[in-house]
Amino acid sequence: MTTTMVAGTANNARPFLYGPEEAALTDVLRSGHYGHTDVTDQFEADVAAFLGVPDTVAIASGTSALHVALLAAGVGPGNEVIVPSLTFCATIQAILAVGARPRFVEVDPRTLCVGSGEVLDAVTPDTRAVLPVLYGGRAVDLPEAQPVFAEQGITVIEDAAHAFGSYAGERRVGATGALTCFSFGPIKNLTCGQGGMIVPRNALEAEACRKLCGLGIVESAAWRAEATGYTVESFGLRVQMSSLNAAIGCAQLGRFPEAEAKRKALWRTYAIALQGVEGVTVVDVDVDRSVPHLCAVLVHADRDQVFRKLRDRSVGVGTHYPPNHLQPAFTPWHRSLPVTERLSRQIMTLPFHQHLAEGDVEHVASEVVKAVTETEAVG
Ligand SMILES: *Cc1c(COP(=O)(O)O)cnc(C)c1O
Repeated sequence: MTTTMVAGTANNARPFLYGPEEAALTDVLRSGHYGHTDVTDQFEADVAAFLGVPDTVAIASGTSALHVALLAAGVGPGNEVIVPSLTFCATIQAILAVGARPRFVEVDPRTLCVGSGEVLDAVTPDTRAVLPVLYGGRAVDLPEAQPVFAEQGITVIEDAAHAFGSYAGERRVGATGALTCFSFGPIKNLTCGQGGMIVPRNALEAEACRKLCGLGIVESAAWRAEATGYTVESFGLRVQMSSLNAAIGCAQLGRFPEAEAKRKALWRTYAIALQGVEGVTVVDVDVDRSVPHLCAVLVHADRDQVFRKLRDRSVGVGTHYPPNHLQPAFTPWHRSLPVTERLSRQIMTLPFHQHLAEGDVEHVASEVVKAVTETEAVG
């Protein structure tokens, strides 16, 4: 028992398998068809039904979802894409992949997400898209910016890598009409091993995304097997979702209510345990509407010291994320972002995954309190 507990809390994140994934995967392995197959179609249909949307496009990863969504939205060289610096570097690499320029913006320190104010301040005549990141699983709504988006033809592409299952108002994220990208990577709310998904805004966009995922070939793989030729109609990548990954996804989706309940419960336990603790602020994830992907806190003592102490005590804390505007690869697009720079010295993410028990969370919270209390406050 003790070993399990230590192993659990020593990890910041871990995939969680419910059981049926192995049999589903074995079935596909034995079928001998590993490309985009009817299993991939099934996963697309299952997720569409879950979200309450007409169609979804399964893809190889969250990064390729963002890449293909940007291409489908017509974003390219000469265009600027507004994006928070505080995100996984994959968001930025997708922007560079289409030849556009990232315009880094600040986030609201309360949510670690962008708001209309941050976005509107950054709009230029070159802005073609805005890429809000649904940090921790929290939906992002930009109502005050919508008139400007409409006027300038700016597309909102949601990086919802953290937010599978979360609600935006009455609807699930992905069902609000925005062009939405999910990740089903190893540690996300739902995993396919690797994978991602685009929720297109209409049938035309779905068609464009499918062609972009499949080398620009018009005909389906099933049709091609029977034919003497095929038609390459446009530019395309090889980023369709393999049936192997889709099979894992179908099995996971069937058990998603468990993920939803567990992740909310873990997050709430952290929030209660750390409520009112001096030196630590829990970043609000709007847990009633979200399926939390992580639990982030701001540390008001020397974060690096607290982090080191906790790591030394086998508590798997993390720092999501080192800001992108300070990364060597992204210096051409550097801007001064004092809020993000301050936050990046305060953010610490706590062990958060479905192997944790409530008692593990309480153990971590008490270790955090101890480490913060022992460490000097910083201005
Ligand atoms: C995981 C993640 C991605 C990329 O998804 P992959 O499936 O790993 O390619 C993009 N953005 C954010 C915020 C993520 O956490």
